[in-house]
Amino acid sequence: MNYCSFLMILFLPCIVLAGETSVPDHREYRLDVSFEVSLSKIVGIVKVPVRAGQELAFRTGQLTVGPLSLNGREMRSSVKDGRLTIKPLEDGFAEIRYEGTFKGGIPQGDRNYGVVSSTIDERGISLTGTWYPQPEGLARWKVTAQLPTGYEAVSEAETITREKKGGGMLFTFDFPHPVDGLSLVATDRYEITRERHGAIELTAYFFKEDRDLARTYLQYAKNYLEQYEKLLAPYPYKRFSIVENFLPTGYSLPTFTLLGQDVVRLPFIVETSLGHEILHQWFGNSVYVDDDRGNWCEGLTTYLADHRYDEQKGKGAEYRKQLLVNYAAYVHEKNETTLRDFRSRSDLASRSIGYGKSAMVFHMLRTMIGHEQFFASLKQLIEEKQFRTASWDDIQAAFEKRSGKDLSTFFKQWIDGKGLPEVRVESASVVRKGGKFEITINVVRKNSALSLDLPVTVSYLRGGEKKDVVVLDADKKSFTLLVDEEPVTAVIDGEYDLARKLTADEIPPVIARLIGDEAPLIVATEVGINNYRSVLIGFSRQEDRQMDKEENEGTGKGLTDAALKASNLVVLGADNPVLGRLFGAIAAQTSGFSLEMRKNPWNPEKVVGIFHAGSAAEADAAFPKITHYGKYSSLAFVKGKNVEKKISPSERGIIMELREEPPIVDLSLLRKLSDVIESAAAKKIVYIGEYHDRFSNHNIQLQVIRALQSKNEKFAIGMEMFQRPFQKTLDDYISGAIDEREFLNRSEYYKRWGFDYNLYKPILDFARQSRVPVVALNLRKEITEKVSKEGMDALTDEERKELPRETDFSDEDYRHRIRQVFDQHKSAEPKNFDFFLQAQVLWDETMAESIDAYFKKNPDHQMAVIAGGGHLVYGTGIPKRTFRRNSLSYTIILNDGEIERNIADFIIFPQPLDGMTAPKLMATFIEEKGRIFFNDFVKDSPAREAGIRADDLLVSLDSVPVKTIADIKTALFFKNKGDIMKVLIVRKRFLLGDKEMEFEVKL
Ligand SMILES: [Zn+2]
Repeated sequence: MNYCSFLMILFLPCIVLAGETSVPDHREYRLDVSFEVSLSKIVGIVKVPVRAGQELAFRTGQLTVGPLSLNGREMRSSVKDGRLTIKPLEDGFAEIRYEGTFKGGIPQGDRNYGVVSSTIDERGISLTGTWYPQPEGLARWKVTAQLPTGYEAVSEAETITREKKGGGMLFTFDFPHPVDGLSLVATDRYEITRERHGAIELTAYFFKEDRDLARTYLQYAKNYLEQYEKLLAPYPYKRFSIVENFLPTGYSLPTFTLLGQDVVRLPFIVETSLGHEILHQWFGNSVYVDDDRGNWCEGLTTYLADHRYDEQKGKGAEYRKQLLVNYAAYVHEKNETTLRDFRSRSDLASRSIGYGKSAMVFHMLRTMIGHEQFFASLKQLIEEKQFRTASWDDIQAAFEKRSGKDLSTFFKQWIDGKGLPEVRVESASVVRKGGKFEITINVVRKNSALSLDLPVTVSYLRGGEKKDVVVLDADKKSFTLLVDEEPVTAVIDGEYDLARKLTADEIPPVIARLIGDEAPLIVATEVGINNYRSVLIGFSRQEDRQMDKEENEGTGKGLTDAALKASNLVVLGADNPVLGRLFGAIAAQTSGFSLEMRKNPWNPEKVVGIFHAGSAAEADAAFPKITHYGKYSSLAFVKGKNVEKKISPSERGIIMELREEPPIVDLSLLRKLSDVIESAAAKKIVYIGEYHDRFSNHNIQLQVIRALQSKNEKFAIGMEMFQRPFQKTLDDYISGAIDEREFLNRSEYYKRWGFDYNLYKPILDFARQSRVPVVALNLRKEITEKVSKEGMDALTDEERKELPRETDFSDEDYRHRIRQVFDQHKSAEPKNFDFFLQAQVLWDETMAESIDAYFKKNPDHQMAVIAGGGHLVYGTGIPKRTFRRNSLSYTIILNDGEIERNIADFIIFPQPLDGMTAPKLMATFIEEKGRIFFNDFVKDSPAREAGIRADDLLVSLDSVPVKTIADIKTALFFKNKGDIMKVLIVRKRFLLGDKEMEFEVKL
């Protein structure tokens, strides 16, 4: 039986042959073989002890079998579907003669997972699998091999003898233990290095060119043998050999490991795979796997070798997390199997199950029953099952026997259940309780009926922590933890002791997630697509996956936001326009080939892979290698050689933020406005936030603006309140070409912004007097309104032209903040958060783009930007988006802001200031087809007192025709409280017809 190594970055093939479940058979079989190497041919005889009437079956595969004899006389047999059956009529010895040709090479099919063929050629002989008639079940063997002079040979053997014979060398391999498969490796290229470890004979069969590696391998082998003998039981055999192969194998076989030349030469193999292969001598090569009932040995070997080596370096949690990240990336509903159904690794998904999940199961067993009981149980297993087959049931029995616990529920869940349980925190809160703090955590469990022990670590604000374990034994549960100190965070399973489905925050954007997706969305542009031929072919796994590039040029047409949100994306070219829609901009790429993984900013469950190739040759050389780098987030290659690899950070454990360090202001450091101005004067952009309806805020803005402008004449004001199509109107007003009334009308101020113009009038008056340019920053209101109702996909091509060219959706703090705003403004009609977020991003990106455009034309200017505080806090609205475009220095000043770390550079708390506002008619109106009707009146309304009634059609105010509510607001703006306003209306009268009437309203 053969076992494959678990190499993190090398995908070596493996062979697992089905075994029998019967009690070991101690019959001794014989196999004598000889070779005609130039013809790739093997000729052999199998000698089998038989009993009359007992049927025996052999797997013969492609071998040519015959003739057969029983006690020297010809015997009948039948061969069907590569299976030979004999039924001898008397006791004695049967002889099966056979021939086979093994030209070898790697079979067609999957590059990574093909089973390596047996081969006989001038490089040597490498025979694994069906190279002799293989009896079903276990048998003991004696093998002889007649080989040309100069050959050295290895097979499963406790003793190897060699003698000159027949013009060559005859090797005899004696193996007194039952096995269910044999292998034979021989070549004339070996140099043999021998050492001893106690009673164990250690041999290295390395090619002459690699002989210098032998001592290192033997030294490491000694260390591993010592380690595992201490941990488990004495090494089961007298010999152990490390054998180099000319074929790319990574097998562990009883008494030796067979490693391909490319593998042997990798420097890290001695620290990883070699130990794994040696551990297989205990698990797999002496305690055999009852393969019909699940292959448990890869998980156990992974756990006690690969995982253990990282654990010894203090990186056990990282290793376990990586197993779970891989599981999330590669295993999905369609390819998920139970551990009992795992036979051997055939792809990345089966590896994640049979090696990864299985290793986690052993980890949980160890956590549950304790370190000592765990190893005592394994010793028990070895004691009972050495040279026999063992199944999961035998493992369960051994662990139950040692721990005295009933583990049936545990094994049923993990061995017979599919998938991983999911643990999610719904909410966490803290209350004072006497002298202590009580933490309440509401947890949900999915995809599991098992009671899970959740490790929780609470960290204290003043340092220190408390570890606890809570039992999640229901689908919904609320836990309370009482702690002595003020808690800052609570983390569930930060050490990855549980096999569970990770949260989106725990999984970094890694390449594995693209590799594991059967149908990622490929986004290509016409330009330069030829560079990406190999990437396109690599990801076009199903015919319908190849995207029609006409439809998906990334320019927006055909590629909807909804599609971008729903998929993992393969983006070809760092200059692909779709990146501008998702991330704003991507740093320019150099030559070579690079791949950068990011979270899909519209969907935390999905990723975006940005591929960039300097040429088709660079892509062809590098792309096929990326599957070996699944755990990384970014890679760079030059001429196919990896020059950079990184993993993006991700959260460790399920983290709950409970309390935080309070922000503290040192009042002795309170500043004056002049200090703020002095600091701001040194920056290119000065953002000054506001509550729109506070005169005090606008007063501060004007003071800052005046002071800055007096220091620097090359000065402009950018305003959120005006939309880009109205720039000309602003320019005309500032230049004096139009008066205030025309300005308000043409800029549609009251329709588009609506706040009383008295709030902004001082700033605009100053700008007009001083000829300070005012820049309309905002996107047309119709577009933001449409997007927040129907999403960006609803926009027409015409409307899309007004959108900012870059939109960055990847700022998670921003998303989080907008989410809070969204949740607070729950309206009666259901709203879509995605659309709300899109509108916000478009709004802020447009303002940033407008600011940037002004600086492109006026690079020597300074600008004060007037906007609501929400667009400025933490810099995530406008400031960082402007900075992404032009890297200009900036400062953020807030009015009446909350004191939070990093929220702004300055927060000003102005004294409240009342302001004169425009008078009101104290009525409500109905706007209908360009006509305005009075609807209702507020108590003591001067309009009603003057005699106006509901349903009166409003014609004009002070002789100025009125068609919209904005017209009313404009008219009132020019009146003072106490003024008389002439209101012309038309009143419908029953039978008498319409009548025009004028009223004088005292405002
Ligand atoms: Zn293995």
